[in-house]
Amino acid sequence: MAKRDYYEILGLSKNASEAEIKKAYRKLALKYHPDKNPDDKSAEEKFKEAAEAYEVLSNAEKRQRYDQFGHDGMRGGQGFGGGGMNMDDIFSQFGDIFGGAFGGGFGGGGGGGRRGGRVKGSNLRIKVKLNLEEIANGAVKKVKVFKLVQADGVEFSTCGTCGGAGQVRRVTNTILGQMQTASTCPACHGAGKSIKSKPKDADENGLRREEEVISIDIPAGVEEGMQLNMSGKGNAGPFGGVPGDLLVVIEEIEHEELKRNGKNLHYELYLNFADVALGCSTEIPLVNGKAKIKVDAGTQSGKIVRLRGKGLPAVQSYGHGDLLVNINVWTPQNLSSEEKALLEKLKSSENFKPQPTHRDKGFFQRVKEMFS
Ligand SMILES: [Zn+2]
Repeated sequence: MAKRDYYEILGLSKNASEAEIKKAYRKLALKYHPDKNPDDKSAEEKFKEAAEAYEVLSNAEKRQRYDQFGHDGMRGGQGFGGGGMNMDDIFSQFGDIFGGAFGGGFGGGGGGGRRGGRVKGSNLRIKVKLNLEEIANGAVKKVKVFKLVQADGVEFSTCGTCGGAGQVRRVTNTILGQMQTASTCPACHGAGKSIKSKPKDADENGLRREEEVISIDIPAGVEEGMQLNMSGKGNAGPFGGVPGDLLVVIEEIEHEELKRNGKNLHYELYLNFADVALGCSTEIPLVNGKAKIKVDAGTQSGKIVRLRGKGLPAVQSYGHGDLLVNINVWTPQNLSSEEKALLEKLKSSENFKPQPTHRDKGFFQRVKEMFS
């Protein structure tokens, strides 16, 4: 699904003022608030979409980046495309939007009194294997996830243990007098609700396990061990709470010829002595296709040819790394008597005597530093 333009989401023009942005978001947040639209997935999506648009456009720096680069400019800043914001982030943003008038909740708890919070579901972690082509180009991976989802037909009532507060208070006598402590309600885990009725396949939290195919949009340039956080794609929260996150851990499949070092790639090129002595042109594998390089006559072993921009894209910034081609001269290991005779003839030539210049020695030092 293509991401909608943030201005379009809020129904504003590009030059909307700060006050207009706030007003437009407030209207949408009220309209699509989950408490007003229970079990309405499309309302929830709109609610999240509006929150994300507001999050960016209300921040001068992020807004400028968005105006300049669009959604691509937002990558790495907050989640990775697919997820957007999670409910906790959205509710924590409400303080300044609604001036505290709504507190933590929207008064849906029924007849005053505090109401419980929304309990977050647990996170899920999966591993995704990517080859170098997928890392270079970015990839959409479809994965099967076995996760807890809200079961259909669950009905809630106010938690009998905490009366809907989500917390239980206990009075203890101390030498300083009576002290009141509050702790999360053990029965509802803070949700303030209990289950009135549920279908057979739902567990005690109103959830059941289901297989879901999730499409993960992986940005180009990710690295082994990197973790993408897809907000709200984890296990559903108990008692109608908010879902946890899906954590996607990246695993790299090694390329047969190209070695990776950050955003640069290395390639070991082996050439025979005659080719480096005479000069030649040869093909180098790239992540996408091949490149021809020219090797000058008299090239020394250990020379590094830099192919600018032929490395990998940087995931958190702009630009590509380079492909560094390390030239190795291959010494033949078996020689025919004819070849031996030819080399015997050549080896005493003055031109075959090694004569490294100061520059060559400095160069080898550079090679060492480059690969250490
Ligand atoms: Zn409770």
